[in-house]
Amino acid sequence: MQLIEVLQNNMSVALVVFGLLGLCVGSFLNVVIHRVPLMMYHAWRQECSEFMAQQADINPEQADLLTQTVAKDTPITLSRPASRCPHCAHKIKWYENIPLVSWLVLRGRCSDCKAAIDVRYPIVELITAFLSALVIYHFGINAPGLSALVLVWTLIALTGIDFDTQLLPDRLTFPLAGLGLAVNSQSWFVSPTESIWGLLLGFLSLWIVVKVFYLITKKQGMGQGDFKLLAVLGAWLGPMMLPLIILLSSLLGSIVGIILMKKQGESKPFAFGPYIAIAGIIALLYGTDIVNWYLNMYA
Ligand SMILES: [Zn+2]
Repeated sequence: MQLIEVLQNNMSVALVVFGLLGLCVGSFLNVVIHRVPLMMYHAWRQECSEFMAQQADINPEQADLLTQTVAKDTPITLSRPASRCPHCAHKIKWYENIPLVSWLVLRGRCSDCKAAIDVRYPIVELITAFLSALVIYHFGINAPGLSALVLVWTLIALTGIDFDTQLLPDRLTFPLAGLGLAVNSQSWFVSPTESIWGLLLGFLSLWIVVKVFYLITKKQGMGQGDFKLLAVLGAWLGPMMLPLIILLSSLLGSIVGIILMKKQGESKPFAFGPYIAIAGIIALLYGTDIVNWYLNMYA
């Protein structure tokens, strides 16, 4: 408890401490971004093979073959197997795994085969460090501040996963929605009632937009995951922040979308989750200021 008091009285020290904590968390988030989709594919393969094996019109020999193939999958969790270089399978030692420092010392290359290590790893660590310090600077070291850290960390993981795979895993969004309702049962960000309405309206508003979009263009613009992510932000920040989040994310998404289209010619599958997540972080930190500023313009 004494440490917390010292940090509360020394904001600059607190920012350094939480920045360093952010570097370590960012390193873990890199693992989450890489492995959670693999864990999901693994589970899907298993469920599909079990389901197919039970179907009457599947030849038992084929079903057996399917089960045997899937049984050979290497199980994967967040901690196992140990991290290896994707090029030469060199086992990464603990001192090669220090956030940011190791990447700089190794000059972004595997110590064994000298293959380039993706610059994204240190970038995710740096962004997590910066945002962790910013959250503590904004909220202080208290219950809302620490819970906001969990929200921002999970949003960073979701951004990375959606960017890579166009997936927003339920195993991350559902607990985060529950946590939003729980923290607001204590009115840390909004009242309990606002939190519940935020959850419902967050889901419904995008659901309606997508249905209308589909009726007009016959194209599926967004996935279920996007509704769930907006519902999460509604549960944390309340319904009043939803228009701002939708506006900001559409703005960011269109700008990046236009740049990508000009660069790549045709449109590739486009993940919208990252823009909702970024807009959510802006709304968490500056939403009240932005909404007040906007309302005052017309007052
Ligand atoms: Zn290597």
